[in-house]
Amino acid sequence: MSDLRISFEFFPPKTEEGRDKLYKTREELQAFTPAFFSVTYGAGGTTRDTTANIVCNLRRDGVSIAPHLSFGGDNEETVLGLLERYKESGVDRIVALRGDMPSGMGSVAQLVYANELVAFIRRHTGDQFHLEVAAYPEIHPEADSYDADIRFLKGKFEAGANSALTQYFYNPDAYFYFVDQCEKAGIDAPIYPGIMPITNFTNLARFSRNCGAEIPRWLKYRMESYRDPEDVKKLGLEIVTDLCETLLEGGAPGLHFYTMNQVAPSADILRALGFQESAA
Ligand code: FAD
Repeated sequence: MSDLRISFEFFPPKTEEGRDKLYKTREELQAFTPAFFSVTYGAGGTTRDTTANIVCNLRRDGVSIAPHLSFGGDNEETVLGLLERYKESGVDRIVALRGDMPSGMGSVAQLVYANELVAFIRRHTGDQFHLEVAAYPEIHPEADSYDADIRFLKGKFEAGANSALTQYFYNPDAYFYFVDQCEKAGIDAPIYPGIMPITNFTNLARFSRNCGAEIPRWLKYRMESYRDPEDVKKLGLEIVTDLCETLLEGGAPGLHFYTMNQVAPSADILRALGFQESAA
């Protein structure tokens, strides 16, 4: 298991209490010696300072941490300012995205495609950062076609990205087929599957509708038949552990966990998969 890359994603909490909890969560998940943690970014600059502050604070403590970044409605100076701050803090990895405008801000500005952001970062900072980009095994909801989405993913690598993290999914075949199609299109960079543990099915179903992740019919029916939240968590653990096992057995180079800022859902899956924890 040692050569498999594990990473954990957080969102920037709005409150001080939430931030304290996040730092504790990060400490506990460190036991799985992840390659990095990442912190999401609200396009339109809604979390500009919070994301940057959390990232720079953790970096000061020696944590391997990657901010998510997008232009959103920001101008070049603002993005350059953030890049400079990250560079000075010793950050060496960025998750480069187009992002989605928060509702209500849709007409504020044009979104900038991720390939353009990747090219911008490379132009201004050379090889300072390892650049991760997003990939969609079930295809991005706005994509013109399957092939077009893969062509645009290739464009992100041609612009200088190093590896990709996927949107979450519950059908491993979607990932294997996607990786196969990417290889056929000439993409040879690693594509890490994004893993969303299941803890609350109602929230997951709502979120999935918005981001275009498919919940298989059998999973929906199975989950909806459970009334006790503890049963949902137990079944969720079983299903997502099986998914991860299938992915790793099928050659996935690692796992990227959407932690929702919680320890147990990701840690329980990793333990069930047999990952060892190191002493603090
Ligand atoms: P792009 O790669 O730019 O693609 C967007 C759409 O445009 C696709 O349909 C693509 O086919 C098409 N396209 C791409 N390039 C071109 C082009 N040059 N010309 C024409 N069409 C093109 N959102 C946030 O707001 N903040 C986050 O922190 C965040 N983190 C994420 C992390 C991961 C791992 C993933 C998978 C998603 C994340 N998202 C986040 C969601 C993401 O921002 C949205 O899915 C967004 O709609 C697309 O971003 P992208 O970088 O994939 O866009």
